[in-house]
Amino acid sequence: MTSNIGAGRFAPSPSGDLHIGNIRSGLLAYVRARQTGRRFLWRIEDLDRVQSGAAQSQLEVFAELGITPDESPLVQSERLGVYSEALSRLEGQGLVYECYCSRKDIRQAPSAPHSPPGAYPGTCRDLLESEREQHRQRLQEQGRSPALRLMTDNAEVTVHDRLLGEIKAPVDDLVLKRGDGVFAYNLIVIVDDGASGVDEVVRGDDLATSAPRQAHLAQLLDLPQPSWLHVPLVVNTAGRRLAKRDGAVTYQQLRTMGWTREDVYAWMGASLGFTGSEGSWSSIDDMVAGVDFDRLLTGETVFVPPADASG
Ligand code: GLU
Repeated sequence: MTSNIGAGRFAPSPSGDLHIGNIRSGLLAYVRARQTGRRFLWRIEDLDRVQSGAAQSQLEVFAELGITPDESPLVQSERLGVYSEALSRLEGQGLVYECYCSRKDIRQAPSAPHSPPGAYPGTCRDLLESEREQHRQRLQEQGRSPALRLMTDNAEVTVHDRLLGEIKAPVDDLVLKRGDGVFAYNLIVIVDDGASGVDEVVRGDDLATSAPRQAHLAQLLDLPQPSWLHVPLVVNTAGRRLAKRDGAVTYQQLRTMGWTREDVYAWMGASLGFTGSEGSWSSIDDMVAGVDFDRLLTGETVFVPPADASG
């Protein structure tokens, strides 16, 4: 059994083909797991935004790049019972309340004193049962259901990130289960990481500000807190997060444009700042040998998609 060995993971949402930036984050998660003797796990985060066939195709791309997860992937849609249990534990601590607000309600509400900007204003925190009953009926008439929120004191929570140093963010009354019945990302991520023995999370730094929330939930649920390593994102020429509309950005598209697997690895080396002989990678083994996390470029990388010769 390997289960007492820690693990790293890649947890893409199967919402479409991975672009080169997602792929780079996933490869870095794998590299770090291999460099530190951890298992490398894969999780299919399919509670939301699912495109049929995408999960399989993401795994196939990684297989082509020379990576197979060490265990069969965890599938979130098969774990609803586990998430319900976690929610019940928080309910048992008196930390869960119904929220009847729409997005617009939240935008328009005056923010509570001392609460961080953008935080939930606490509208539904302290309602009387009779008021709750009225709200439930109102929502029911609109065909909606209440969301469930975590009761917090809006305190700042700090986690340490291996690349970014301290990440400090206020944890507000975050959603645990949405009005449409879908369990919220922050809850299920930390439950799954805990259940699979993930003790280091490597992912894109767009999720860095979620780490304090997840750390807070881990503490409430008595789950071990993983360590964190958020890697820089790949952006488009306008400096925004890379997206499909930016052109040939997925592995499949790049292959069509003539890129080989070796080209992908060569780009990885250059984009992470390992140039010259130490960065001329052509395989995952080269990347495992070549990445030095202490010397990773920390800025964003701009990806310029190859031009379509036919266009
Ligand atoms: N499923 C999330 C995404 O694709 C990543 C979750 C995580 O790594 O914590 O953005």
